[in-house]
Order: sequence, then C-alpha cells, then structure tokens
Amino acid sequence: MDNCLFCKIIAGEIPCHKIYEDDEVLAFLDITNDPEGHTLVIPKKHSVNLMDTDSDTFAYTCEIAQEIAQHYVNIGYADGINIYINSGVDAGQEVMHLHIHILPRKQGDGINFARTEKQSDKTLAEVAETLKLN
Ligand code: 5GP
Ligand code: ZN
Repeated sequence: MDNCLFCKIIAGEIPCHKIYEDDEVLAFLDITNDPEGHTLVIPKKHSVNLMDTDSDTFAYTCEIAQEIAQHYVNIGYADGINIYINSGVDAGQEVMHLHIHILPRKQGDGINFARTEKQSDKTLAEVAETLKLN
C-alpha cells in the first residue's frame, strides 16, 4: 500500500530492527524503545486495523505475537507481558496498518496502565444489554 509506513518497512524501504519474519508476518522493535524491547507484530498483507483484517490473518498474527511473548519470558528478558492493539484514531492508533504491541514487563518496572478517571453512570446489566453479541 502506497504511503503506508509499515508497508515501507516490510518492503525494506525503511529500516527496522527485526525480531521475527516469515512469509506472512514481520515483528520489529518499536522506534520508541519504551519500554525497552517494545515490539510491533504486523501482517505483511496490508489492512488498517481490527475492523478490516481477515480472521485468518489476524489469528496468525496473534499466534506469532504469542510466540514472541513466550520467547521473551523463556529467555528471561521479561517477567510479564502486555499485549494491545490500538484500533481507530479515537483509540490512539497513529499508524494505519494493523499492529500488535508487545510490551516486555519487568518485576517492579513501575509501568502503570492507569484506569480511566471517567466513571460510568450505567449498571453492568445496562452495558451488557447494549453490547451483547448473541
Ligand atoms: P499506534 O499508536 O498506531 O498503536 O502505534 C504506532 C507505533 O509505531 C508507535 O508505538 C510508534 O512509536 C511506532 N512507530 C512509528 N513510526 C515508526 C518507525 O518508523 N519505526 C518503528 N520501528 N516504529 C515506529
Ligand atoms: Zn501497510
């Protein structure tokens, strides 16, 4: 996809620090190195985010993200792992090519995924009624 930063990384037009590569997926270090070892896992087939990625591609990308996370723990680099996907501008997505963030966590690293300050005035039952899928 023209003008997609991560497609350019896949094509080798922009350098990256590669962690894993196969025919379908590429994993490389996030440029921030925050926290150290912050890794992005992306499908080579361009899609924007969760909404337009086909389920096989998504499943395989997740499988590789899990393998990488397990590897970081197995080699003693991480004591724990956070995985997340920002999907949509309003969810903080900045690069419009699906990517899974892997954050290697170390005991006592002090990173805090703060809970939202905004309290809902709806009950859980009301929320479930709105959200239920089946
Ligand atoms: P998002 O906010 O879209 O979920 O995450 C995009 C991520 O891509 C950010 O964590 C950002 O640091 C990373 N990023 C942006 N530009 C580059 C780049 O040129 N190279 C690498 N390796 N990471 C990048
Ligand atoms: Zn792309």
